[in-house]
Amino acid sequence: MTELAGWTHAYSGKVRDLYVDMGVTDLEHARRVLMVASDRVSAFDYVLEPGIPGKGELLTTLSLWWFDQLEGIPNHLLSGMTEDATGQPATEIPDAVQGRAMLARTLDMFPIECVVRGYLVGSGWLEYQQSQTVCGIPLPTGLQNGDRLPEPIYTPAFKAPMGAHDENISFERTVELVGPEIAESLRTLSLEIFRRASAIAAKRGLILADTKFEFGAHHDTGLITLADEVLTSDSSRYWDAATYAAGGPNRLDSFDKQIVRNWLSANWDKTGTPPELPAEIVAQTAARYRELIERLTGGGTD
Ligand code: ATP
Ligand code: MG
Repeated sequence: MTELAGWTHAYSGKVRDLYVDMGVTDLEHARRVLMVASDRVSAFDYVLEPGIPGKGELLTTLSLWWFDQLEGIPNHLLSGMTEDATGQPATEIPDAVQGRAMLARTLDMFPIECVVRGYLVGSGWLEYQQSQTVCGIPLPTGLQNGDRLPEPIYTPAFKAPMGAHDENISFERTVELVGPEIAESLRTLSLEIFRRASAIAAKRGLILADTKFEFGAHHDTGLITLADEVLTSDSSRYWDAATYAAGGPNRLDSFDKQIVRNWLSANWDKTGTPPELPAEIVAQTAARYRELIERLTGGGTD
């Protein structure tokens, strides 16, 4: 992990490294956090070798672009501000992580992953085949893998502490966790952002199949604020609308590490350490990430 002058490393997830101002003991006491996206790629909960060159930058660019698109939704970004949350002149993002770092206001994060699904796929499809529900929400009969849902559904998960698996929870459970008003706001905001983002993606020939948001409360005002990464290929499934419409085996190929997952499934029995990714798989994955960002941010007007 990169050493950054003036910053202390506070936490690393599978993909991102978080830093707080030097002298601050931990994230809880920090007014701001530097979130650095690495090139690490994970699949089936393993961090793989090697990373995908440029991935960290692409994820950061995508998040920043989406925050900008979502005008009116309060977000955690401090980058670009001339003063930081403490009223001091904002420190520039260190050169070593320029392009793949966001400077954000530290929030009291709600322990909820706000998942929205517009399509039946993945774990949702598995559950549907068993019980005709997704996260307990009843759905019409006769849906197929990858079908569009009658309307997007909010299926929250409990954000498990470090390393543990997130667990799907009911809306009622989110009420117990954060109270009725906040639970209601998280659902409303998540569905609203999903609808807006889907419309923007659709104009670029992309389907936003599902995604996950995280929110936190502003330390001083309590304002519910959109945090973390947003609508990236790590947090979302995007499909190509034309490929989807044409049907066929690739119609649900997502713009993320699908290529990595497919290769691993074919070349690894999921015991022991995963094998190193071949150069062509790395290159194809990097190209796929770039394609998404070009499609989304490259053209089209709103
Ligand atoms: P993993 O992705 O490896 O399963 P993770 O989600 O904990 O684990 P990252 O996504 O790399 O790891 O780390 C980002 C962390 O920062 C998350 O725990 C997220 O909740 C938290 N976070 C995001 N935005 C803010 C913010 N503005 N203030 C405080 N914490 C934040
Ligand atoms: Mg995360």
